[in-house]
Amino acid sequence: MQRRKFLTLMSAAGLGAALSPASANAAATTSFNGHPEAVGVLHDSVRCIGCRKCEEGCFKVNGQDLPAFKNDPSAQRPDFADLEVLNKKRRTNCNTYTVVNRYQTEKGPVYRKLQCNHCQEPACASACFVKAFVKTPEGPVVYKPELCVGCRYCMVACPFYVPTYDYGSAWNPLVYKCTMCAPRIAKGQLPGCVEACPKEALVFGKRTDLINIARERIQKNPELYDAKVFGESEMGGTNWLYLSPVQHTELAQPELGKTSAPELTSGALGAVAMVAGIWPVLLGGAYAINKRRTKMAQEEAKEAVTTAVATTREEAEAKLQKALAKAEKDKDAAVAREVKKAREEAIQETEAKFAPPQAPDGESTPEDASGKEGDA
Ligand code: SF4
Ligand code: SF4
Ligand code: SF4
Repeated sequence: MQRRKFLTLMSAAGLGAALSPASANAAATTSFNGHPEAVGVLHDSVRCIGCRKCEEGCFKVNGQDLPAFKNDPSAQRPDFADLEVLNKKRRTNCNTYTVVNRYQTEKGPVYRKLQCNHCQEPACASACFVKAFVKTPEGPVVYKPELCVGCRYCMVACPFYVPTYDYGSAWNPLVYKCTMCAPRIAKGQLPGCVEACPKEALVFGKRTDLINIARERIQKNPELYDAKVFGESEMGGTNWLYLSPVQHTELAQPELGKTSAPELTSGALGAVAMVAGIWPVLLGGAYAINKRRTKMAQEEAKEAVTTAVATTREEAEAKLQKALAKAEKDKDAAVAREVKKAREEAIQETEAKFAPPQAPDGESTPEDASGKEGDA
């Protein structure tokens, strides 16, 4: 199911709930204005020059955790100096948490940075039945890989097409998205992309302060800015906010209502009572199947490794025995050769010792003389 269709269905179901007195309570939600101390980032497209330094900054911080690079330190890293890529409309993927795209507008080229928007009431978290996505009061929407069952509902639910899947991993595929550099923020550091931006097109701070900064910029330079701060209210508000010199839709920002994802979801489940009962069963079933498949795959892999090790051990043992036998044979042959040589030398020595002396030319030996006497 496509994201927009999913959200449309949710909206439709929410509308149904509103019209039905029986389900009105299920559709009702409390008004949530976000966590008061939550932080975020403001991207100002008026200041952005499309240099891709933010992409590089993100890679420096997160590159070692991305599937293409974490198991292969020799993998070729992206060329962030290549600005030709700005001509394409890129999306984030499991090896790229953020991209900058260029849009041709009546005000010239305008750049927009894409990454997870860390929604105040995230659709991804709302759709995730094992709570692998969690909105923190500090601002970042964090992912817990140990809980993820790979159902990918988060991908379908996100209105910004952000979470991506590591389809290349056979054993443990996970979902990847910008973390807002939560571990750095916790240490008092800036997100990698914000730190790398040479034009201060990215501002990090409390969301409430960022909204004030954005409004002030619009107020001071209305000729430079579109009047809208994107993210202030979309889908209940996001912690990444955007300023633009042109209408945000010209930079491919989606047109979204103010209703948050949990509100839409609550409407859907409240309106169709059966769904509320079947939903956990279906998801629970998917979870069990997924877990079983993973377990079977792991057992098969373990068995294959055990067999391979046993075979290799047997082969190694056979090779060793053969080598030892050959060595033994070689040793016997060498000993026999040495004995033979020593015997031959001893015989030669003995023969030389007891050999009769040679007579000079013309003279007879004592044996010759005694022979002649005997004859006489
Ligand atoms: S942008 Fe998408 S992935 Fe990010 S918090 Fe919002 S719904 Fe979740
Ligand atoms: S906040 Fe961190 S993870 Fe997100 S785009 Fe910036 S550097 Fe990358
Ligand atoms: S580093 Fe700053 S100026 Fe450069 S592309 Fe990113 S946001 Fe724009």
